[in-house]
Amino acid sequence: MRKVFNYLGIVVVSLSMLACATDKKEVSKNVATAIEKAPIKSILTAEEQINMSPDEIIGRLKKGNENFVANNLTQRDHSAQRREAMIGQYPKAIVLSCVDSRVPVEDVFDLGIGDIFVARVAGNIENDEIVGSMEFATAVAGSKLVIVMGHTACGAVKHAIDNTDAAAMEMNALQNLLNEIKPSVAKTEIKGEVSSKNTEFTNNVIHNNAVKTVEDIRIASPKMASLEKEGKIKIVAAVYNMATGKVQFI
Ligand SMILES: [Zn+2]
Repeated sequence: MRKVFNYLGIVVVSLSMLACATDKKEVSKNVATAIEKAPIKSILTAEEQINMSPDEIIGRLKKGNENFVANNLTQRDHSAQRREAMIGQYPKAIVLSCVDSRVPVEDVFDLGIGDIFVARVAGNIENDEIVGSMEFATAVAGSKLVIVMGHTACGAVKHAIDNTDAAAMEMNALQNLLNEIKPSVAKTEIKGEVSSKNTEFTNNVIHNNAVKTVEDIRIASPKMASLEKEGKIKIVAAVYNMATGKVQFI
């Protein structure tokens, strides 16, 4: 009988040891998950900004865009980041985007407070104020990358293609904006009809318009053009695909 009790005792001890081991495993797994999922509290530092090359920044943004496409955005402690950002900012890039509400720039690259400058204007064209903002971002604040990001189904580009007469509707400012996009319409090879209903043609104009803005920026800012020649910054075009969430760098 005693033997049976002893045997049962060993079984109980063995089972509790196993349970303990399983608990420990579970705890360390939970800790690892918590560390992995802990929201980011810090923001980009001056040192991190200095040590990144323009190509490395493109690589990080591509990785961030993969997170966005996979619906796996990084958790951030915005309250802690906001407090830290009071000290200063060292963003790695400036993105020029269209104003379209369906293009959430920071989310598209899985970025948060202090990570990037964002300039927005319908049709992602350039003007003095936009280029001035880019000169500040790069030559003054140390950003190494300028991205001009168009997007599929862009309303501004569609109206430029369809020759919408905004001036006739007392919208001269909008007309001036559409006129900035028209050279990209004229430059695009015509396959089928010249209409915003022609998706392939429209997408080609969107592509050409982003490339044209990059060229215009280089002409408008000798300072940025020379920084680029020295390899200190890069000015690139990209297109955001609204259906897939993917950013294609051109
Ligand atoms: Zn747009």
